[in-house]
Amino acid sequence: MAANCQQIKCNVTECHFNKNVLCDAPMIQVDRNGVGRASQSPQTKCETFKPRS
Ligand code: SF4
Repeated sequence: MAANCQQIKCNVTECHFNKNVLCDAPMIQVDRNGVGRASQSPQTKCETFKPRS
């Protein structure tokens, strides 16, 4: 169960965890995307993404 009641709005509706444009995963992992230090959001990525089957 989440430790807070924040909601994650996510437009990646092709993700298994996406429910009505919100993330329904119990937690998500976000990492840098191919850089040592991110300076803008495209340099980050959701590692929890899983394609809808
Ligand atoms: S796991 Fe990541 S990509 Fe999938 S719905 Fe949640 S935030 Fe979006």
